[in-house]
Amino acid sequence: MKPKIGIYGLTGCAGDQLNILNCEDELLKLFDIFEIKSFVMASRAADESVELDVAFVEGSVSTAKDLEDLLAIRKKSKILVAIGHCAIYGGVQAMFMEKEEWIERYQKVYGKQDAVTLTAPLEPKPLSAYVKVDAALPGCPIEKEPFLKLAGMLIHGVVPKNPDYPVCAECRWKENECLLLKGEICLGPLTNSGCGAICPSHNTGCIGCWGPIAEENYAAEIKLLIDKGYDLDAVIKRFSIFGGTERAEKLRKFLEKEGRK
Ligand code: SF4
Ligand code: SF4
Repeated sequence: MKPKIGIYGLTGCAGDQLNILNCEDELLKLFDIFEIKSFVMASRAADESVELDVAFVEGSVSTAKDLEDLLAIRKKSKILVAIGHCAIYGGVQAMFMEKEEWIERYQKVYGKQDAVTLTAPLEPKPLSAYVKVDAALPGCPIEKEPFLKLAGMLIHGVVPKNPDYPVCAECRWKENECLLLKGEICLGPLTNSGCGAICPSHNTGCIGCWGPIAEENYAAEIKLLIDKGYDLDAVIKRFSIFGGTERAEKLRKFLEKEGRK
């Protein structure tokens, strides 16, 4: 019996699903190992009537339809895996740094109209705000190798946990010169590892797309950046790109406590 899986997308750019399709050499093997019951990006022949062993879900819950779909997917799936930053943390659409209510922020962008379009919009949130999430594969978008590794573990009944050390560890293993010493803002110390420190390895500061590590130390990172002469607004902007609702809120509280914002 092959495990039955479904691959779904809520609100997001569909980059995670696309990267699954980009597993070109391994795609036929994946189709051979799993019975794919729903993957609308690859085929319209979806069967939503069956129970699933594993559902992979990308995107944030940003509309009433997203929520309806997510609840239905959760109900029929033994294991639900959030894939990509939007599903795990809410994505850039869940970023906020202002105190006003969501509807006011919405109207700032779309004008003073009712927030009703094709489907009722909701404040963008990660999947875990509404349902139990059994595993998560971070990234924006997810990378091919970690996805294949995750698929391989799931097929053996192992639900993996993500590493709990920062990007800096992988960066140092690669013997990169630290970008902070070269005048670049880098969020490596506060960001979950797993990407192989791709950005610092290409001389670009980390913007945090693998999400926050469990024990972020804002105080130390912000003090370090400010001591090095970085502009606080530039630091806050960098934090908020992939902040997600929870991280943005934590940062805001920290800055308020410090009397900096
Ligand atoms: S470049 Fe960034 S990720 Fe690498 S060690 Fe420095 S702060 Fe950490
Ligand atoms: S280095 Fe940072 S921004 Fe770049 S892929 Fe890794 S987690 Fe994402």
